Formats: sequence, C-alpha cells, structure tokens
Amino acid sequence: MAEPFTHPDQWDDTVRERYNPNRKTEEFRDYGETVHPRVREFYRLNHTHQTVHFNREARRKWLNLDHAEMGIWEMMDELNKLVDDSDPDTDLSQIDHNLQTAEAMRRDGAPRWMQLTGLIHDLGKVLWLWGEPQWAVVGDTFPVGCAWSDKIVFHQFFTANPDAAVPEFQTENGIYEPGAGLDQVMLSWGHDEYLYHVTKDYLPEPAQYMIRYHSFYPAHREGAYTHLMNATDREMFEWVRKFNPYDLYSKADAPPDAKALRPYYDELINEFFPAKIRW
Ligand code: FE
Ligand code: FE
Repeated sequence: MAEPFTHPDQWDDTVRERYNPNRKTEEFRDYGETVHPRVREFYRLNHTHQTVHFNREARRKWLNLDHAEMGIWEMMDELNKLVDDSDPDTDLSQIDHNLQTAEAMRRDGAPRWMQLTGLIHDLGKVLWLWGEPQWAVVGDTFPVGCAWSDKIVFHQFFTANPDAAVPEFQTENGIYEPGAGLDQVMLSWGHDEYLYHVTKDYLPEPAQYMIRYHSFYPAHREGAYTHLMNATDREMFEWVRKFNPYDLYSKADAPPDAKALRPYYDELINEFFPAKIRW
C-alpha cells in the first residue's frame, strides 16, 4: 500500500468522522481501533516520514514559488482534475467543497476576506497533483524538531520516525525558544503551509492564520503546543477555531451551483488578488 488514499478528501473525511459532534464517547475512545486500515497506513507513513530534514527540503523545493503562475479560479479548475474514484456516491468536486465552505460563511454574514479564505483554503492540495507523496499534502499537522504531543492522532507511529533518535528534537521545546511564536516553528509540511506562502501577501492576518493552521488539530482542537505560541498566536487562533466548523461541516449542505456563484466569487477574488499569482 504505497499511497493509501486515492483522493485528498479522504483524509478530510476521517477528520470529519473523528470530530463528528453526534459521535458517542465510546466511539471517540475507540477511534484508533475502528478506522479503516488505509487511514492507519496514511498516518503511519505521515508520522514516519515528516522529519526535520524532510521539512527543510520541502521548503527549499517549493517556497521559491517557481512552479506556476496561475489565477485563483484557474487553480480551482486545475484541482478539479482530482477525481475520487473510490467514492462513487459523492460527485462533490474540489470546487464544490471550496464553494460550500465559502457559502456557509457568507450565509452567516462572515467578512468578505473570510469568505475568500473559505473559498481558497485547500488550493495547496495542488501539491498532490504535482507529485508530492500524500503524507506530505494532507494530514493533521504538528511541529517537527520538538517532542510530539500525545494529543496527535496515532502518536504511536512516531517511534518509526528517525527524529525519535535525535535527543535535541525530543525535548518539550526542541529547537525552538519557549513562546517564540508559531511563525518560528516548522509545522509538518502540507497543503496548509504551502498555500500560506502562496497567498500571504494578499490577505489579512486572520486569513493567513486560518490557511496556515487549519489542519493543526493538535493545537486548535486539542489545545496542545501552547508553550510555543506567543500572544498573537493565541489571539489569532480564535479565528482558526471559527474557521474549522465551516471546513468540517459544510459538506452536508446542498451542492452549490458553481455557474451561478461564479460572478460573485470572481469579484471577491479580484478584490484581493491580481489576475495571476506565483505557485
Ligand atoms: Fe485543508
Ligand atoms: Fe477543507
């Protein structure tokens, strides 16, 4: 099982299942036992390979942003090439998930920049199309270079990570200063960190936090890693927490009419972004 998932949304589905508000307490406890083998395999790969070294290399490889020049909607069309073969029941495309997240925010009267953030938050998944292994595109994120919190799902798989043998990486703060702020901390590489770098110059700070930390479940849902945060992080994580339910639970909504919504979102995109940005 080299690549456990056939589509990046399968990881999102596992998170939605884990934080399903209707779930019984016993089911929560048994989460690790009851999940599908490919979910376990995904986390095994992710926890084994997300090392400090891998993370430095991924940043060197991707953060020059010299892979493409494309507009926001153009990238949404690109991502629609990802088809979930494994799930014949859902014909929800990437654009649908993007629009559902944004539309749910719009209905609740969220500010325009936040609707836009809902629309674009997963565009970093293009890494999947561009050949990154899936454990380096999706998955709950966590700091590398310091001790792994036991709040990280499938924590036991970290024993296979080469960083487990590096004492410097295994203290509470590891290679970071306590309270240094998350901007100083390397979170495991994936679609969040990548898209943050692609879009940060165009968006207000709360939007940057929502994009960069939306998969950091150990912190925004489980409360771990406060010792690495600074005052700005603590303040901005309120926004990350506001964002999360829209990401998780808007999938139940009726499929959006992309054609009808396009003019509204084109205008919104143009309000913040130039016609093309660097990826
Ligand atoms: Fe995401
Ligand atoms: Fe999402």
